[in-house]
Amino acid sequence: MFVSVVFPLAVEGSFTYHIEGFGDADIGKRVLAPFGKGNRKKIGIAVCKSEKRDDCKEAVVLDEMPVFGKTEIGLFEFLHSYYGSGLGMAIKAMLPKKLFEVIQPLQMQQVEFSYDKAVKNLTPTVEQSYIIDAIKPDVASKFSGNLIMGVTGSGKTEIYLQLIEHALKAGYGAIVLVPEITLTPQLEDRFVKRFGDIISVFHSRLTPLQKFKRWLDVKFGRTPIVLGARSAIFMPAKAGIIVVDEEQDSSYKQSDMMPHYNGRDIAILRAKLENIPVVLGSATPSVSTYYKAKIGKFRLFEMKERIKKTPLPKIYLSDLNGCRRGIITDKLLNALKEQSQSLILVNRRGFAKSAVCLDCGMPFSCPNCSATLAYHKKEDRLECHWCGYIQKVDQECRCGSRRLKFVGTGTEKVEAYLKEIFPDKTIERFDSDNTKRKGSYRKILDGLASGKIDIVVGTQMIAKGHDYPGIMLSAILCYESLLAGADYLSSENAIQLALQVSGRSGRKNQGKSIIQTYNIHNPDFIDIIRHDYASFCEKELKIREKWHYPPFSHLIRVISVNPKKIVARKEIEHIALKLKDAQIDFLGPSVCLISKIRNRFRFHLIIKTGRVKRAVRFLKNLVENKNFDSRIVIDVDAIDFF
Ligand code: ADP
Ligand code: ZN
Ligand code: ZN
Repeated sequence: MFVSVVFPLAVEGSFTYHIEGFGDADIGKRVLAPFGKGNRKKIGIAVCKSEKRDDCKEAVVLDEMPVFGKTEIGLFEFLHSYYGSGLGMAIKAMLPKKLFEVIQPLQMQQVEFSYDKAVKNLTPTVEQSYIIDAIKPDVASKFSGNLIMGVTGSGKTEIYLQLIEHALKAGYGAIVLVPEITLTPQLEDRFVKRFGDIISVFHSRLTPLQKFKRWLDVKFGRTPIVLGARSAIFMPAKAGIIVVDEEQDSSYKQSDMMPHYNGRDIAILRAKLENIPVVLGSATPSVSTYYKAKIGKFRLFEMKERIKKTPLPKIYLSDLNGCRRGIITDKLLNALKEQSQSLILVNRRGFAKSAVCLDCGMPFSCPNCSATLAYHKKEDRLECHWCGYIQKVDQECRCGSRRLKFVGTGTEKVEAYLKEIFPDKTIERFDSDNTKRKGSYRKILDGLASGKIDIVVGTQMIAKGHDYPGIMLSAILCYESLLAGADYLSSENAIQLALQVSGRSGRKNQGKSIIQTYNIHNPDFIDIIRHDYASFCEKELKIREKWHYPPFSHLIRVISVNPKKIVARKEIEHIALKLKDAQIDFLGPSVCLISKIRNRFRFHLIIKTGRVKRAVRFLKNLVENKNFDSRIVIDVDAIDFF
């Protein structure tokens, strides 16, 4: 038999081998095959039978059991045909690395899991019962798309837990996706308390060996429940239900490398392939998901009240125009004075946005990227957030001057400013600079819980997932800084973040939230103040429809990347020309907002289409047939336009 084998390499296609006695039951199994000129033995996956070929090398099947079942083959094909992933990269994204390094056969050792519950279920409220009863019949038996649009604290997680219990009783497991940032020990504890140790947790900080071990635990049924960040959606679980919490979160989209898939969308596809329900939960779902619910593709469940009946925080606006020193208005200062625990969102790391030369007026920028450097006070240096370049502050400007001033506002600057004003308060910073060290994350959360910390200044990290019962005031330093992306998603992302931040305050008694802004007349504030996210979605959908943006189309971003500017530009222009011939609509081409990263120039265009697979096929053909000098990136359903 002739067989197509895929290796976990950055190559486009598969390789054909001859395998003696290969049958349909062998599809999806690992094989050992001689590879390349030296015929070194390599492990690959047999993905399908293939046409007869002359002078094929011989390969052998390694295991009794396939590592890729029907579902995985389906997801694998989708990564290829929809996201335009090379076959090797798709395999690499879906399976643990170690699987391709360990030659020992996987021993069939399916176990029956047993779970003893440590903690009883809470008695569901009427609202929760209604939702649980509606979804329950589908568990392990039927596809359904479900959106639970419920404010923070409305009891969504409890619904997930009870549905998962139902799956376990039916002999199935579950996959639960959460944003990377919210994968905290607290969340894990909650699941472990309920179900015992039949859970595997996945996140990017695991070692390859840990990942492999957990993959085996899931594969053999020892841990039927998978809790993890986006890549957990590929785990070989026998799931009866899939849950995606905070479904709008941008960390579900793999923007930084191929394949550029969205874990949430893979979850929906997987649920269809396996005939099981998928539950998307959020206080602020993406406008696209809201639309799916509105047109009846998904069932919509709304939960407008917190379980503990605490009213949602009152949201106030504060005008930044004419504010002294331009950072914190009197309104916010007074509120901070009164409250015991507060939280302030600053949309930027570092002390200041950037450093500007006092003599020539030019910003200090990265020599490798077209981006300004950010000043970090603690290390007293300038850093590029795109490539990691570091420069001392006393380095000369290109004009020869050493005199600089700092402009803009980052977390460190706000922290320093507040420490000056409130010398008696304990003020902490919560951002990725400050939480890199192991345990420091936990320390800040503990400090809040014990009441030791009065004010936390942080980036988007503080807005997500954590429960801080003592916080009574939350604030956004500058609403406009949340709109920075300047793409079609910027209003959506800003309002989501604003509502998330406000949701962090007043868990026990009604809290307060202050949004500082330069544009008090922004109509989105009407919805924000009323906590009426659905109203925003309705408005936004009208705009999207008019301009033919998602969910009324799909955006495919095509980027050309090359050390030579002229080549990168020429090649994106060539692609544009071909698209025009094929009558595929697009915007651009133009230079990217960050026109250079790591000394490579970047140009892009954005295809708007209803037929993604056709456009992807067209692009891949083009890339294969014309040998571009530039790296051509295809990002389907892009959310990142820098
Ligand atoms: P969400 O996921 O929507 O933020 P949670 O499920 O975490 O909400 O619930 C918020 C709080 O209410 C939690 O402390 C949870 O233990 C509690 N809770 C949830 N459902 C119930 C219930 N039916 N009875 C009592 N407490 C509940
Ligand atoms: Zn200068
Ligand atoms: Zn750089």
